[in-house]
Amino acid sequence: MNSAHHADVVVIGGGPAGATASTLLAQQGLAVELFERERFPRFHIGESLIPETYWTLERLGMLPKLQASRFVKKYSVQFVNARGQESAPFYFWDNKPHECSQTWQVVRSEFDQMMLENARAHGVTAHEGTRVHEVLFEGDRAVGVRVRGEDGVFREVRARVVVDASGQNGLLSHTLGLRVWDPVLNKGAIWTYWEGAYRDTGKDEGATIVLQTPDKKGWFWYIPQHDNIVSVGVVGPFDYLFKGRGSYEQTYAEEVERCTAVKERVAGATRATGHFATKDYSYRASQVAGNGWVLVGDAWGFLDPLYSSGVLLALKSGELAADAIVAGLGKGDTSAAQLGSWGPDFNRGVDRMRRLVCEYYDGFSFGRFVKHYPALIGTVTDLLIGDLFTDRVDQVWGPLESLYPPDKPAIPAWNAGTPVADAPEKANELILPEDLARRVI
Ligand SMILES: Cc1cc2nc3c(=O)[nH]c(=O)nc-3n(C[C@H](O)[C@H](O)[C@H](O)COP(=O)(O)OP(=O)(O)OC[C@H]3O[C@@H](n4cnc5c(N)ncnc54)[C@H](O)[C@@H]3O)c2cc1C
Repeated sequence: MNSAHHADVVVIGGGPAGATASTLLAQQGLAVELFERERFPRFHIGESLIPETYWTLERLGMLPKLQASRFVKKYSVQFVNARGQESAPFYFWDNKPHECSQTWQVVRSEFDQMMLENARAHGVTAHEGTRVHEVLFEGDRAVGVRVRGEDGVFREVRARVVVDASGQNGLLSHTLGLRVWDPVLNKGAIWTYWEGAYRDTGKDEGATIVLQTPDKKGWFWYIPQHDNIVSVGVVGPFDYLFKGRGSYEQTYAEEVERCTAVKERVAGATRATGHFATKDYSYRASQVAGNGWVLVGDAWGFLDPLYSSGVLLALKSGELAADAIVAGLGKGDTSAAQLGSWGPDFNRGVDRMRRLVCEYYDGFSFGRFVKHYPALIGTVTDLLIGDLFTDRVDQVWGPLESLYPPDKPAIPAWNAGTPVADAPEKANELILPEDLARRVI
C-alpha cells in the first residue's frame, strides 16, 4: 500500500453530482480529489434535463458548453393518456419567459464527460479507473478513503471531508445501513434506442413525451436525441414487468404492441441498440451527512424517473453540499449538523416531486386538473420544471385532492419503507445489452 496523502475534500464518483460538488469546491480554492471507478465516456441512463438545472449549470460555467453542443433543445413536456389523448404541451417559456426555460435532451456519456472535463478545468484532480473501496473512519468521523487504481495498488487519501457521489452504488449508505426503500415506488424499466422514429418539428422536436400504458399501470418515456435517435423506455410495477414474462426484448415488444401511441411513433424506425433494463426502486438515506461526510445525488436518494428529476437533484444536492462544506471549512466545523444543514429543506422539495409522482400512479390526470383549475397551470408547470424548494407550489395540493375519489387512500411517506438491511434482495442493478459496444450511448 502506498503512503497516504492529503486533500481538502475527496469526492467518490464522477457523475453529475460528484462533478458538481467538486467543481464548486475547487472554484473556492480547495484541493479536491475525485475518484471515478469507470473510464469516461461510459453509458448512463438519465437523459432528459429539466429547466431548473440551469442555475447550477450556470454556476459551474457549463452553459456555453451546452449551448455549443449538439444536444437537442427541450422546451416542453407533453402527456398522452391511456386512451391515446394528448395533453397540450407544457411549454416552460409560457410560465417563465427566461433563457432557463429551454433545456436539453442529453446523451449521458457525452454530458457526463463534459461535466468531468469542466471539473478538471476548474482545478479538480479527477482520477478515472480508480475505485474507492472504503471510507476511512476515526471514531465516527470520516477522514479519507482507500482507493485502488488500474495498476491494482491500494492507497489512502486523507481528507477533511468525504463527499459520497457514488450513485445508486451508495458506498456509505450501504456501509452504514442508511438506505430506506420507498414503500410504494417499486418499479422497473426496460428501454432501447430507435433510429428514425417519429419526431415532432420546430420547438416541439425536443419535447419529452410521457405516454401512459393502456392499463394505466405504467408509462413510456419518449426522449428525442441528436443523430436521429429516440430513447424509448417503459416503466411499470416491478412484478408486472419482470416476473413470469419472457426476455426483456419480448416484454418490451409486448408493451409497445399494447400502446398504440408508442407503436405508431416507432413503426418506421430501426432499433439502434439492444435492450437495457433496471429495477427502479426509489429510496433515500435516513441522513444526508455525518461527521466529515456528506451524501449527494443518487448516493443520497433516487426518485422514480417519471418527471426526469434525477439530474436536477444530483446537481442541486451537489451544489448545496459544496456550499455547506465551504462554509464549514471556513469556520472549522465539519460536523454532521453543518455538512447536512441543507438536508431538511432538500427533503421537503423532493417530497413535493414524490407526491406528484405518486399522484400520477394513483390516476392523477394533468389534462383534467388543468381543465378544472386553469389558474394553477403555472404552479403545476413550476413543479414540472423542478422549482421544488419553495412553499409557494404547495397551493396545488388542495385543488388536486378535491378531484380525488372520496375513498382514495393516503400516500405513505417514503420513510415508512424498508431499511436496506431488511430487504437485501432489492438492488437497482442495471442490465446492459450484449451489443452495447456497437454504440456508446
Ligand atoms: C430508468 C431511469 C431513467 C431515468 N431518467 C432520467 C431522466 O430522464 N432525467 C434525469 O434527470 N434523470 C433520470 N434518471 C436518474 C439519473 O440517472 C440519476 O439521478 C443521475 O444519474 C444521478 O447522478 P449521480 O451523479 O448521483 O450518479 P451517477 O450518474 O450514477 O454517477 C455516479 C458515479 O459514481 C461512480 N462510482 C460508483 N461507485 C464508485 C466507487 N466505489 N468508486 C468510484 N466511483 C464510483 C459510478 O461509476 C458513476 O460514474 C433516470 C434513472 C433511471 C434508472
